[in-house]
Amino acid sequence: MLDFKNLNLHSSILSALEKKGYKSPTPIQAQAIPHLLEGKDLLGIAQTGTGKTAAFAIPIIHHLHRMVGSSKKTKQIRCLVVTPTRELAVQIGESFDTYGKYTNLRQLTIFGGVSQVPQVDQLKKGVDILIATPGRLLDLHKQGFLDFDHLHFLVLDESDLMLDMGFINDVRKIVKLVPNNRQTLLFSATMPMAIRELADTFLNKPEYVSVTPVSSTAEIIEQQVYFVDKENKRGLLYHLIRNQNLSNVLVFVRTKHGADNVVKALKKNGVNAEAIHGDKSQTARQRVLDQFKNKEISVLVATDIAARGIDIESLPYVINFDLPNIPETYVHRIGRTGRAGNGGISISFCGKDEEVYWKDILKLIKVNVKTIKDHPFPWKENIPNPDAKPDLRNKKKPNGESKSRKSEASKKNKKRWY
Ligand code: AMP
Repeated sequence: MLDFKNLNLHSSILSALEKKGYKSPTPIQAQAIPHLLEGKDLLGIAQTGTGKTAAFAIPIIHHLHRMVGSSKKTKQIRCLVVTPTRELAVQIGESFDTYGKYTNLRQLTIFGGVSQVPQVDQLKKGVDILIATPGRLLDLHKQGFLDFDHLHFLVLDESDLMLDMGFINDVRKIVKLVPNNRQTLLFSATMPMAIRELADTFLNKPEYVSVTPVSSTAEIIEQQVYFVDKENKRGLLYHLIRNQNLSNVLVFVRTKHGADNVVKALKKNGVNAEAIHGDKSQTARQRVLDQFKNKEISVLVATDIAARGIDIESLPYVINFDLPNIPETYVHRIGRTGRAGNGGISISFCGKDEEVYWKDILKLIKVNVKTIKDHPFPWKENIPNPDAKPDLRNKKKPNGESKSRKSEASKKNKKRWY
């Protein structure tokens, strides 16, 4: 078995890892840490949940601790981590805290949507590691509060999400602010062409590491699908929560409006649910997230973007209330459960209008998903067989299918779906 001890890490880091209970490095850590300790640039393709934060935080702490850890010199920003959302920034800050627990390194997390005053006060005291969302970072730089002359590490985290969220120009500006002789790390969950281009521009002869091709995360998770008409989804959700006594559930919906509606319906029925999405203030989002982590809220309803920053260990249930139209998103969502080797259950609701999304998902994950037929809200019509040839004889009948043909079709469907 791989051991952190074989990675030649500083003893203070090994102690922190032991305290945290990590026994061995995850695959991304085992691959990335040696390259980073050697001072190489890195392009890492890894999703949240693979242990990628520690994969960059540990070698950075190791290096900075040796470089400046015990010196009495004024603190300078030596590492900058740029990440798209406040939730991710907070989570990365917590990781640096955990792994750097026995060092003197000081770190600060800055993000928008809150007063800049406490952030500026902390900056004035001096920090070694700065974790930031792009907007606030550029803003504070413009005001003269940030000096990157001593920067050694630049980490661009969740780069594909930064592209999606329209931060690309900000990222380009940020890269121009930092010294050229830096060590750059770029992480992304996916590798579209645009990320390849960014890597070519920002990285210098990078090492490439990649873990969990998106389809493989899905294998350790018990996946279930319910075919349910759109208008019955809320009823089914409530039914499952109550009948199976589910708590600590993360529910994914497509829109902010949808998230609010689901929460409203659940609350009306006495379920302790809250939503997080982009329309809520940063403070409100963080509060809800903390309450969910502390189990004061049993159901968290989230859009994909808002959920990207959620890091909760061993989340038992993920429910896809709406199916995503990008199949990879399904894998990212269900990867919220089954973290660091723990199993979990993912439940998907597939409406009639989402059948095409479901087929794309099945094509990607290539594993069997259990269809749960025994529930109070099945599709009103038969589940169609997407591979069935059109039955031309039916055309002659003015009212479509006869009863017997209907049951034949249903048998075929069973073959397909069960
Ligand atoms: P990340 O991919 O960085 O979001 O990490 C996902 C989760 O895995 C976090 O909750 C970490 O605390 C946890 N984790 C990271 N590295 C390890 C490890 N080596 N052993 C066990 N858990 C880990």
